[in-house]
Amino acid sequence: MAPSKRRYWYNPRREAILVNIEDQITNSKAYLVGGGIGSLAAAAFMIRDGGMPGENISILEAAPIMGGSLDGAGEPVGGYSMRGGRMLTADNYECTWDLYRSIPSLNNAGKTVFDETLDFNEEHKSNAMARLVDRQRAKVPVTSMGFSMQDRIELLKLSQAGEDTLAASRITDWLSPRFFKTEFWFMWSTTFAFQPWHSAVEFKRYLHRFMLEFSRIETLAGVKRTIYNQYDSLVLPLEKWLESQRVHLISDCRVTDFAHRTELGKFIVTAIHCLRQHKSEVIAVNDGDFVFFQNGSMTDASSVGSMMTSPKPLTKADSGGWTLWEKLAEGRPEFGNPAVFNNCIAQTCWESFTVTLQNPSFFDEMSQFSGNEAGTGGLVTFKDSNWMMSIVLAHQPHFLNQPANVQVFWGYALFPDRVGNFVPKPMADCNGAEILQELCGHLRFDLACLESANCIPCRMPYITSMFMPRLPGDRPLPVPSSSRNLAFISQFVEIPDDTVFTVEYSVRAAQMAVYQLLGIERDIPPVTPHDKSPRTKFEALIKAFK
Ligand SMILES: Cc1cc2nc3c(=O)[nH]c(=O)nc-3n(C[C@H](O)[C@H](O)[C@H](O)COP(=O)(O)OP(=O)(O)OC[C@H]3O[C@@H](n4cnc5c(N)ncnc54)[C@H](O)[C@@H]3O)c2cc1C
Repeated sequence: MAPSKRRYWYNPRREAILVNIEDQITNSKAYLVGGGIGSLAAAAFMIRDGGMPGENISILEAAPIMGGSLDGAGEPVGGYSMRGGRMLTADNYECTWDLYRSIPSLNNAGKTVFDETLDFNEEHKSNAMARLVDRQRAKVPVTSMGFSMQDRIELLKLSQAGEDTLAASRITDWLSPRFFKTEFWFMWSTTFAFQPWHSAVEFKRYLHRFMLEFSRIETLAGVKRTIYNQYDSLVLPLEKWLESQRVHLISDCRVTDFAHRTELGKFIVTAIHCLRQHKSEVIAVNDGDFVFFQNGSMTDASSVGSMMTSPKPLTKADSGGWTLWEKLAEGRPEFGNPAVFNNCIAQTCWESFTVTLQNPSFFDEMSQFSGNEAGTGGLVTFKDSNWMMSIVLAHQPHFLNQPANVQVFWGYALFPDRVGNFVPKPMADCNGAEILQELCGHLRFDLACLESANCIPCRMPYITSMFMPRLPGDRPLPVPSSSRNLAFISQFVEIPDDTVFTVEYSVRAAQMAVYQLLGIERDIPPVTPHDKSPRTKFEALIKAFK
């Protein structure tokens, strides 16, 4: 795709002098701190839409591989592991698909990642038939949302309240305790990982952004999946494309500080201090260069266990992952307030687990029980489970290197601090074998069907940190007005109307930051106003009154 049309741009070296942007960008360098999907997307936008040569771009990532939260790796004997399994939609995710319409597939010659994903979803449509399972192991009828009239009125009130009114309130400030027992809450909260104490603003944003999903939440029919796990299907093709553009992908490199100067009230990064394979390095940032920073990560300080051990209870003190944002934001309110998001692990932690099987019994029993072949269902949530446990059996193989005789599934639990129903321990203290025992208890399956299973648990202390109640200003803008060459790309930036805890949010933040800093005139795909469509609103209303 040709770079978008642009002529002149503000020259950061000499105030008020216009220079030819083509020359400016060709000579500029860009440094991206963090190698999550946000930074990978930003690099692609700089090349595709800004005409920046790939070799001028460096991505500095603390971990040994790129992709951040979108991880996924392993092999049959040691077991596969991924922190998350993602649901996407084709009706939203505007910036994500705008990006992936330009990224070639690695496995389907002549197709883009966008094409191959949509084709795959045409072949494998979601139609969950066992969305909720109760304590008797019965599939709960879910065509009704289970609302009382009071629930409907309260939900309507919350969904119509302005963000200034909702402010830092919690969902529980708007909805009565009964609401949290409705089928709607069980399905909506486990689809999107909401807890009752989370931000009312975020909850409201989800109601609007995903209004189309409201009327089909019980079957998850609107959900789109990637062909494999998201590392193999989203990160790898993008990484390969960036490599082909000669972008420098630098792993094992933790950025510890930004040197800066202030000029005419503007914050200007002048150097990047980092630890590259434990050795200190300083990278000079020259006038005209750009710095993009991934401030905060939902998977920071995550740890994995094994069949024999529970994951270590790490915190930000162990990882140092939030330190740079904390340092930068100190005394600079326009750079946000990380403490709002990372100060209460008890409210932001949950655990996932990945199970590798060498024997089809579990998949066979699940397909008999749920009525769904792997890849056609969705989350199966054990709604009365103390841990609030859900599992998903994706289409197989779920990993590029997964042999045909191996199956992999993923699950998670919203309340790892609670004692299980079949294991007398909090999930947080359980190893993989105990998690499988709990799962089989809810399913009433014989443990023998998981005989050779390898379950790898993963604790994520900040997984829902983006959902913590916040006020305007707690998150920086992608390009704060006081910044000359520094932009923020993450789940912790302020974007009107869009919903955090999505790949889309990070990609949108990247596109906004890149277009603004580089002065690109191409339009950013807007957030689709499904909530303004009379038909969608009507269908949602019908559903709410069923
Ligand atoms: C369990 C789970 C389930 C999910 N489900 C869905 C879903 O269904 N649908 C959906 O759309 N999204 C889902 N998501 C969310 C989605 O995966 C994330 O929103 C997205 O991947 C975040 O990308 P990011 O690039 O903003 O940040 P991250 O992936 O967090 O990347 C940030 C990177 O920056 C690095 N970094 C930070 N500071 C420094 C530093 N100082 N120096 C060097 N490197 C640094 C970190 O190491 C990290 O790799 C899920 C996520 C998880 C974990």
